[in-house]
Amino acid sequence: MDDPSEGFGLLVVLLAPLALLALLPALIASARGREFIAWWLYAIVLFPLAFLHAICLTPTRRSRDEAAAREGDERCPACREYVRASATLCRHCGSAIPPSEPPLFRSVRGA
Ligand SMILES: [Zn+2]
Repeated sequence: MDDPSEGFGLLVVLLAPLALLALLPALIASARGREFIAWWLYAIVLFPLAFLHAICLTPTRRSRDEAAAREGDERCPACREYVRASATLCRHCGSAIPPSEPPLFRSVRGA
């Protein structure tokens, strides 16, 4: 162990699997709207805690809204919550939702 590069090599061999394993809680947290890099570092330092913590996370409001928008849901004109595009009544506030325009007209208007 006189060669300093040997110690560095040992460190890489020990940390590389942990860095890979730490991707798991980071990906879970990222899918639920949290910062990937912060959670990856957190998991490298405290893997078991970060893993359990990531599993218990609830999605942020922003990530839920993004997922709803990706699925083609639309906002209720009354309460601004996401509802299915085919919905006629809002499941959040109960107000009537006017039928949506076909996608062609929506994209032309830029809405
Ligand atoms: Zn509503």
